[in-house]
Amino acid sequence: MSDSIPIGLKTKIIDLPKLRKPIISALAKLNIFTLENLLNYLPSRYLDFSKIINIKDIKADSPITVKAKVTSIGKRLSFPSRKWLCEAVIADDTGSLKVIWFNQPYIVNYLQKGDEVFFAGTPKYYKSLQLFNPIYEKVTEGESIHTGRLVPVYKTTSSLTPRTLRTLIKDYLDLSKDLNDLVPAEIKTKYKLLDEQAAIPEIHFPKDENNLNQAKLKITFNQLLIQQLAVEIHKNELRLNKAVKIKPNIALTKEFLETLPFELTDGQKQAAWQIMQDMEKPTPMHRLLEGDVGSGKTLVAVLAMLQAWQAGQVTVFLAPTEILANQHFVTVLNYCANFLKNSNLKINIALFTSKQHQINNDVITKKELSQKLAKGEVNIIIGTHALLYDQKIKNLVLIIIDEQHRFGVGQRATLAKKSKDFPHLLSMTATPIPRTLALALYGDLDITTLKQIPSGRTPVKTEVVTETGRGKVYDFIRSQLSKGRQAFVITPRVEESEDNPIKSVKQEFERLKLTEFKNFKVGLLYGSMKSNDKNSTMSAFNNKDLDVLVATSVIEIGIDVPNATVIVIEGAENFGLAQLHQLRGRVGRGKELSYCFLFSDSDSESTIKRLEVFAKTNDGFKLAELDLQERGFGSLFGQEQTGFNASFAKFATVEGLKMAQEASKQLIMTDSELKEYPLLKQEVLPLVEQIHLE
Ligand code: ADP
Ligand code: MG
Repeated sequence: MSDSIPIGLKTKIIDLPKLRKPIISALAKLNIFTLENLLNYLPSRYLDFSKIINIKDIKADSPITVKAKVTSIGKRLSFPSRKWLCEAVIADDTGSLKVIWFNQPYIVNYLQKGDEVFFAGTPKYYKSLQLFNPIYEKVTEGESIHTGRLVPVYKTTSSLTPRTLRTLIKDYLDLSKDLNDLVPAEIKTKYKLLDEQAAIPEIHFPKDENNLNQAKLKITFNQLLIQQLAVEIHKNELRLNKAVKIKPNIALTKEFLETLPFELTDGQKQAAWQIMQDMEKPTPMHRLLEGDVGSGKTLVAVLAMLQAWQAGQVTVFLAPTEILANQHFVTVLNYCANFLKNSNLKINIALFTSKQHQINNDVITKKELSQKLAKGEVNIIIGTHALLYDQKIKNLVLIIIDEQHRFGVGQRATLAKKSKDFPHLLSMTATPIPRTLALALYGDLDITTLKQIPSGRTPVKTEVVTETGRGKVYDFIRSQLSKGRQAFVITPRVEESEDNPIKSVKQEFERLKLTEFKNFKVGLLYGSMKSNDKNSTMSAFNNKDLDVLVATSVIEIGIDVPNATVIVIEGAENFGLAQLHQLRGRVGRGKELSYCFLFSDSDSESTIKRLEVFAKTNDGFKLAELDLQERGFGSLFGQEQTGFNASFAKFATVEGLKMAQEASKQLIMTDSELKEYPLLKQEVLPLVEQIHLE
């Protein structure tokens, strides 16, 4: 490739001069194919090495940069691990410091005695103050990019070091001036937002904290605006659809409620009433029911199903996993059992997952069940998304989905096949979403919140435990198990981070099985297990064939085992507060007092304080608000739930969200098809399409 090709934003990475093949393919893995992609690849975090200080002033454990001369440098093989150690002594006018790099023998080829170098890292005390694995950068190299500043850190793959990526981005950063800006000028002025051409250089190489925040605000605003516009457009579309009107049957509902062993909470009454009113309208219901774990959402769902059933219509109830579908099936059968026993009414309730096909208590073949659904002979169908494929369901008027937040117009149309009417939609979630956020992410949904938990339940006793208390916790758990109770042990999801030896679920399972709980039956559950194995483990735990279940946070959603009274959460600092709350909600579901023990590997004071706050708070919404304030709103969701990339979600703020909301409303009001804003339109339409399909 000749050196003279014009380089621009559209230039392909493979056409760049002097880039090695492994680097090109590593970039491709990060979806970086052009220089524009490269500039839009955001740092995931920053290292604050902006403090350049004298060697005599350094202290352990706080990040610094020193400007020093190499006084000696060499490498040797360590014994017995046979790993390369590269050791140097560096000095400035005020003192000298020992530096060690592990596994980077090539450094001796780059740094030589006498070189003047910036070293950035966090000094540690180990016999004496030392710097381990510092980032280095020769002073002669011009403006520093790896040291002496806020240094961007990117998620990379093993064949592409952060250093290489940083250098590459810096090399082409000038092209930022050619970037387009999605955000209309009048909106930038109104909200005092940076131009894209200024924001991109600052997001990569911020001059200071303030500039960085400005850049983050602009870049997250782009995404939020697109997202908000999609929601607004979708909302307008929804108003055009028609639905079958379902007249509520109050008398029958009352009869049903009388067969239950408890009274509805006020929240349940209000929610059910709202839903009935929605279903009576000629436009499809589009409602999100959010309520803390244990707030009794399933019963509200059953009340909605009953309305559809008494009107001669059909409901589909979708769960995210087979385990949950199973559980919901049993629950719904139970809720209806007394009601049906003393009357001559009949409700056909079916279970439909990829492997299970059942009507009431009869197992039938998939084909038989399919035919019955096509003829409208089943009133309530409970299943997983297996139902969405090739399944015609006659008379479908109501879709209820658990823990998926959204459900696309397209999916609804698929399920309702050929019907010109749209089914009503009720979406349920136990993820407590603060209202600002819920409106933003699901602004096209009407929202009902169940704040109250049915009375008579005692909050889960929660305790943050230090390592010295570990033995006592196991003693306590064994005493619970001996009483016939069950326990969960949760380990954090395995993360990519190499500097953080997170307990893995398999290790912990082996350890507990052989030591602490060797006299009990211990099971293992994690997300990537075969679904058959997952199901059998879960039903073993359900049937008390297992005493202890060691699991990742897969058990977060909805699992209901009232006999489980203890949950241990390892590495608790790895979870958001809202997520911890979900996990804690796995116990305290029965009559017995339940316990949650949190272990943390962190010795940071603020982390422990955060966990202490959690231990004292039982309100999921309050915890979610705290998460939102502390960690930005990305912390509340997995990436898959927002569809945003990870760093974006991390950088987004409620402030930016509110601006974007206001701005999108204003734009849509004056130009509902975004005719004046082709760049925006190009980004928004695919997202609207995606909302249709989700
Ligand atoms: P979630 O909102 O987490 O899905 P569930 O619907 O699973 O909650 O309900 C949790 C438990 O509370 C169930 O055992 C259910 O039978 C019980 N429950 C539901 N409503 C009430 C109520 N009004 N009073 C007492 N218990 C209730
Ligand atoms: Mg539930």
